[in-house]
Amino acid sequence: MNLTKVVDSMIEKKMTFNEELSEKLYEKLFSAEKELKTIVETGTTFQKELKKIVSVLKETGEDTSLHTNTLMEQMSKLSDFEGANELKDIVKVIIDDTDKMQAQSQKLESKLEESTFKIESLQSNLENARIESRTDALTNIGNRKFFEEKIEEYVTNHKKLGHDLCLIPCDIDFFKKFNDNFGHQIGDQVLKVVAHVIKKELGLQGSAARYGGEEFAILLPKAKLGDAIELADHIRKVISERIIKNKNTGANFDRITMSFGVASMNANMTADDLIQKLDSALYLSKANGRNMVQSELELDQVVDGKQSA
Ligand code: GH3
Ligand code: MG
Ligand code: MG
Repeated sequence: MNLTKVVDSMIEKKMTFNEELSEKLYEKLFSAEKELKTIVETGTTFQKELKKIVSVLKETGEDTSLHTNTLMEQMSKLSDFEGANELKDIVKVIIDDTDKMQAQSQKLESKLEESTFKIESLQSNLENARIESRTDALTNIGNRKFFEEKIEEYVTNHKKLGHDLCLIPCDIDFFKKFNDNFGHQIGDQVLKVVAHVIKKELGLQGSAARYGGEEFAILLPKAKLGDAIELADHIRKVISERIIKNKNTGANFDRITMSFGVASMNANMTADDLIQKLDSALYLSKANGRNMVQSELELDQVVDGKQSA
């Protein structure tokens, strides 16, 4: 079930949103996520404990086998003594028992190792599910959930460690028209191309996500505003120059362009302040003609312009 679909149907039914309804929605859509996290965490703890038990058992096994060896040595020395046979019988019983104990502890050890292995593979399945739940199925880059987690992580690092943080929202220009002209499926191909270009040009500098339908976001956790603007303009250029061909006919589709906003996080700013700034910068980029990058620098000019008018 997808949030957009649920909300759309609620709007259709003219339902009013209130806190109670939001809570219900949250529970319905996101509680599975919480469960998944708990399972992964429990699995990790459990696995750690099992590993401890296995290592204790291994040690015990080694001790027991040392003990058996000592007994055997002592027994071989007994042959010179009178009444040795009786004593030998006693020691033999002890050795047999020790062997049995060792065999049992080995059995237990291998069972526990098997369980540890099973838990490990279960955990890796869960980790894969976690990654999948943060990946956009169409474009294979991070989805909105991934974006939200990353921004939280980067904002924390900004506040705690003073790391620079810039964000670049970008949105395909006139995409509705493109879909109308060439069909939704070709539109989907375009989204894949855009995601691919963003990922490739961004490299290891930061993270990227498909934030909404034809909207993407680039997060640069260690970039200054100037570098972020430069990167945004570079990606803008690569996308606008990209020729998208019809695989069957070889004919070119219309070129596509994107509009970008750039803003940086400053001290005393909340994540919401930053998002507000980003929205305004992207809006300015659309309003000023699209296929361009507008940053907080231009926003400041607009504000100054208004103030001085
Ligand atoms: P603007 O330059 O102002 O951004 O114009 P726009 O047409 O891009 O913006 P608008 O918000 O009017 O339309 C967005 C379009 O994006 C409408 C929708 O069909 C398309 N879109 C959103 N998600 C997808 C998707 O997953 N696949 C395809 N093919 N199109 C999508
Ligand atoms: Mg658009
Ligand atoms: Mg849009």
